[in-house]
Amino acid sequence: MGEELIEELVAMGIWDREVLEVMSEVPREEFVPEEQKSWAYENRPLPIGFGATISQPYIVAFMTQALRLKPNHRVLEIGTGSGYQAAILSQLVSKVYSIENEPHLAVEATKRLRRLGYSNVRVKAGDGYEGWAEHSPYDGIIVTAAAPQIPHPLIIQLKKGGRLVIPVGRDEQRLQILQKTSNGLQLEGTLSVSFVPMRSDYL
Ligand code: SAH
Repeated sequence: MGEELIEELVAMGIWDREVLEVMSEVPREEFVPEEQKSWAYENRPLPIGFGATISQPYIVAFMTQALRLKPNHRVLEIGTGSGYQAAILSQLVSKVYSIENEPHLAVEATKRLRRLGYSNVRVKAGDGYEGWAEHSPYDGIIVTAAAPQIPHPLIIQLKKGGRLVIPVGRDEQRLQILQKTSNGLQLEGTLSVSFVPMRSDYL
């Protein structure tokens, strides 16, 4: 990712050096369709088919920074889409699990991540509302589709001390950060955002 865009992220308030470094290393153009490649390094979301979008780089950076990741962490992502956010996470933690409910996108993202060498990411097709209990609890959970409320299974699957970042709302959405502390849950509202809606039988 170009130096200009990284400078823009800094100007917008992204301060985590490791997040900025990874943003500059992961080639976003590899994650967008051929006809979108010329916009890959602009600070805006892009359509990737099936009604899905690869998020704006600023939002990717903001959400990643909000997770306060450490190298030994294991992270769950809901909404693999192109696999770009998963690739960013994979460079900051030991293992990334990602769930995508559109089977074609799940297959494509799996192939892409393997081809590009992001070998610590596991993708599965399924409804992310349920989380992925098998590998829980997670140090961080990131949801990249908007839900009207925080799915309960995800709160259960979050480690104590862990953070969950999710866009909450239908038309009006706000990025929420949920922290699981020894005193209970702490919720913080942040940016107003516009994500594609989570599709689930539970909603
Ligand atoms: N993080 C992605 C962008 C996600 S767009 C990237 O970096 O490219 C939101 C994605 O969430 C879409 O691909 C959509 O199909 C998926 N999605 C919607 N509902 C879902 C659900 N219940 N479980 C898993 N994925 C879901």
